[in-house]
Amino acid sequence: RAQLQKGAGVIDYQPVLEQEANQRFTRSRDLYRALHCREISIELQPQVNLQSGRIIGAEALARWTRSDGTRISPAEFIPMAEANGLIVLIGNQVQHMACQALQRLRQSGFTNIPIAVNVSPLQLARRNFLHELIEITQHYQVSPDMLEIEITETAAMADYEGNGQVLRSLRDAGFRIAIDDFGTGYSSLAHLRAMPATTLKIDRQFISEIGATAREHTIADMIIGLGKRLKMEVLAEGVESEMQTTWLREHACAQAQGFFFARPESIDGFLQRLARSA
Ligand code: C2E
Ligand code: MG
Ligand code: MG
Ligand code: MG
Repeated sequence: RAQLQKGAGVIDYQPVLEQEANQRFTRSRDLYRALHCREISIELQPQVNLQSGRIIGAEALARWTRSDGTRISPAEFIPMAEANGLIVLIGNQVQHMACQALQRLRQSGFTNIPIAVNVSPLQLARRNFLHELIEITQHYQVSPDMLEIEITETAAMADYEGNGQVLRSLRDAGFRIAIDDFGTGYSSLAHLRAMPATTLKIDRQFISEIGATAREHTIADMIIGLGKRLKMEVLAEGVESEMQTTWLREHACAQAQGFFFARPESIDGFLQRLARSA
C-alpha cells in the first residue's frame, strides 16, 4: 500500500479519491466536448401575465442532449460547470442562443417578448462581461431591454458590493435584471433596496406551499408586498396548479411561470404557442 509522508503524520493512499477525481475529470471533459459538438441548446419557458393570461416573456434554460438522444439534467451539469469554470462558456453560448431566439421572434412579428438568461456569479465577475454582452446583442441587433439577466439571490448577495456594481452598469446599459430564487438567500433589506433589479422571482418552494400549510403562504405574500414597495415586478416561479394561480391573482402577484402554464419547450414550440395565442 502506497503511503504519503507528510511531516510527522502518514496519510494512507486512497484509491477511492483517485477514482472520484478521475470520474470528475472525465465528466468535465465530456461537457467540454459537448459544448464544441453543439450538444448544448436552450429551451424557452413562457412567462405569463396573471390578469390577462398573455405571454409576456420567456426564460432560456440550458439543455444538454447527447448525440444518442439522452438528456443530462441541468441539476447535474450546471453545478459541475460552476465547479470547473465551464459555466462561463456555457453562459456565453446561452446568451448567443437567446439572442438568436429574439431575432426569430422579431422576424415573426413578436417584438415585445423579452427573454431571460441565467447568469453565474463567475460570469458576472469577469471584467468584460458587460462589454461582451453588448457585443452579442449588437451582433443579433437585439435591444438590451429585450434581454433579462437572472442572478440568484444567494449569488447576488454573496458579493454584494461587486455584483451590485456590475448589475448597475448592466441596468444603465438597458438590460433588465431579475433576482432568481428569491426568498432563499437572506438578503438584507438595505442591500436589496440598493440592487438595481427590475424583477423579483419568488422561489418555487414558497409557491409549492400555497394551500399546503396552515401558516398561509406568508413568505410569498411578503415578497409580493416587498416588490410593490421597492417598485420591482414580482414573478411567481414553479406554478403548478389552478389553486396556486387563483391565490396569486387574488394576492396581486402580476406574473407567473410554471408547468401549469407551460413546460420549457423548443424555440419552434414557443413560436407556435405565441402564434396561437396572438
Ligand atoms: P431556475 O433558473 O430557477 O429555473 C427554473 C427551473 O424550474 C427550471 O429547471 C425549470 O424547468 C423548472 N420549473 C419551471 N416550472 C416548474 C414547475 O412548475 N414545477 C417544477 N417542479 N419545476 C419547474 P431546469 O431547467 O432543470 O434548471 C435548473 C436550474 O439550472 C435553473 O433554475 C438554473 O439555476 C440553472 N440553469 C439552467 N440553465 C442555466 C444557464 O444557462 N446558466 C446558468 N448559470 N444556470 C442555468
Ligand atoms: Mg420578465
Ligand atoms: Mg432562472
Ligand atoms: Mg429560480
